[in-house]
Amino acid sequence: MELSADFFAFAYLIATILFIYGLKGLSSPKTALRGNMLAMIGMALAVSVTWMNPEIKNYTWIWALLGGGVVGIALALRISMTAMPQLVALLHSFVGLSAVLVAVGTFLSHSGSSELSPIALIELAVGSVIGAITFTGSLVAFGKLQEILKSSPLVFWGQHLLNLFLGLSLLGCGAYFTMTQDILSFGVLIGIALALGFLLVLPIGGADMPVVVSMLNSYSGWAASATGFILNNQLLITTGALVGSSGAILSYIMCQAMNRSILSVIFGGVGGDPTQNSTVAQAASKGVQSASAEDAAFLLENSSKVIIIPGYGLAVAQAQHAVKDLYEILTEKGVEVKFAIHPVAGRMPGHMNVLLAESDIPYDCVFEMDEINGEFSSADVGLVIGANDVVNPAAKSDKSSPLYGMPILDVYKTKHIFVSKRSMKAGYSGVDNALFYYPNCSLIFGDAKATCEALVAAIRGA
Ligand code: NDP
Repeated sequence: MELSADFFAFAYLIATILFIYGLKGLSSPKTALRGNMLAMIGMALAVSVTWMNPEIKNYTWIWALLGGGVVGIALALRISMTAMPQLVALLHSFVGLSAVLVAVGTFLSHSGSSELSPIALIELAVGSVIGAITFTGSLVAFGKLQEILKSSPLVFWGQHLLNLFLGLSLLGCGAYFTMTQDILSFGVLIGIALALGFLLVLPIGGADMPVVVSMLNSYSGWAASATGFILNNQLLITTGALVGSSGAILSYIMCQAMNRSILSVIFGGVGGDPTQNSTVAQAASKGVQSASAEDAAFLLENSSKVIIIPGYGLAVAQAQHAVKDLYEILTEKGVEVKFAIHPVAGRMPGHMNVLLAESDIPYDCVFEMDEINGEFSSADVGLVIGANDVVNPAAKSDKSSPLYGMPILDVYKTKHIFVSKRSMKAGYSGVDNALFYYPNCSLIFGDAKATCEALVAAIRGA
C-alpha cells in the first residue's frame, strides 16, 4: 500500500511539535531530561517515516549511513563532559558539509535540465554557502577548543577588508551562478565560502568562544533548513529553522550576558594571549596569599552564609560529588550554602548546572548571576572552585583588559574569598585574575576534588 502525502505531512507535523516541546524542556535543568526524551522520540519518528518514503528507490546507501549512527553512539559513550563543546563544534561541521554535498549532488544530477528553476538555483547557492561557512568555521572552533589551534584570537592587518572583499565576491559569484548555471562559478562560490568560514572564526577566541559555538549552532540550523528547501523536505526546513533561530537567540542572550555586541563577536574577536600566564613568582611578588584547606574549613564552618562559585576546573576535577558532600556537611552545621552560576562558566552553556544536578545538589540553592550578585556582600565566605574568568574584577575596572565589560560574579565583595586551583595559570581567556591580589582572597592550591575532600575531612575532624 502506498502511503499518502498527507500521512507524511501529519507525521512530520507531530515530529516538529515534539521538537518544539523538546526545546522548551531544555530551558530548565528540571525539565531537560524530559525535553531530550521528547526530541529523541520526534527524531525517531522523523527518521522512520522518511524511511518509508516511496521516492527512495535504493536503500543501500541508507544502510551504509547507519554506520555513522554506530560511530556516533560509540563517540557519545566515550566522550568526557569537558570535551562536549568540541564534539558539538565537530557535529556542526558535519551538518555544514552535508548541506554542501546535498547542494553539489543536486546540482550535478540536474545540471543543464529545466528542472533547475531560478528559485532552485538560489536555494543551491544559499545552501552551499551557509553549509561551507558552517563547515570550515566549525572546524576552526573545534581546533581552538581541542587546543590544536591557539585559542586566542588570530588577527592580522586588513582582515576586515579581506572579509568584505570575499563577501562581495560571494554575492557576485552567487548571482552569476544563478543566472548561468555555470559549474565553475558554483565551485568558486563554494571555495570562497569555505575560506570565509575559516576567516570569520579565526579572529574570535578567548572568552568569546561560547558565543561562537552557539552562532555556529545557529548556522548549522540554517544550513539544514536550506537543505530542506533543496530536497523539498518540510521537516528539514522546520527543524533547521528551529535550530537556527534557537541558536541565534542563545547567541544573542550570551552576548548580552557577556556585554558584547553580536557584530563585534562575529567580526572582531577579543581575548588575551594565554601564553602570558602569570607565574607563581610574579604572583608572590605581588602579594598573593595562599591558604590550607584547614584554614578555609575553619572559616567555612563558622560562617552563616557561604556562596560557592563553580567553574571549569570543577568539571576537570570531577569534583561535583565532593562539592555535594561539602554542601551537606555545611548545611548540617547550620550554614546557609548557595551556588552562583555564571552564564559562561565551564565550557558549554549550562555546564555547571548539569554537573551540580549530577550530584543531586538541590535546584533551589543554585542561582543565576543576576539573582545572586546582590548577595555577595552579605556572605561570609565566597568559595571559588575552579572558576577564574567569571570572577575576574578586571572585567569591571580595567579598561585595557580583554575581559572589560563582561559581567562577572561579584565574589570580590565577600568578606573572605578562597579560590581552589592548581597553579597561578590564567583561565580560558588567558587574562591574569585581579581577584587573586585582593587582600581578602587566598588561594588553596591543588586539584579541586582533593581540596573539597580535604575541606570535608577538616570540618568532620573538627
Ligand atoms: P576558566 O577557564 O576561566 O578557569 C578555569 C580554572 O580552573 C583555571 O584557573 C584552572 O587553573 C582551574 N582548574 C583547572 N583544572 C583544575 C583542577 N583539576 N582543580 C582545580 N582547578 C582547576 O573557567 P571559568 O569557568 O571561570 O570561565 C569559563 C571560560 O571559558 C570563560 O572565559 C568562557 O568564556 C570560556 N568558555 C566558555 C564556554 C561555555 O559555553 N561556557 C565555551 C568555551 C569557552 P589551574 O590550571 O591553575 O588549576
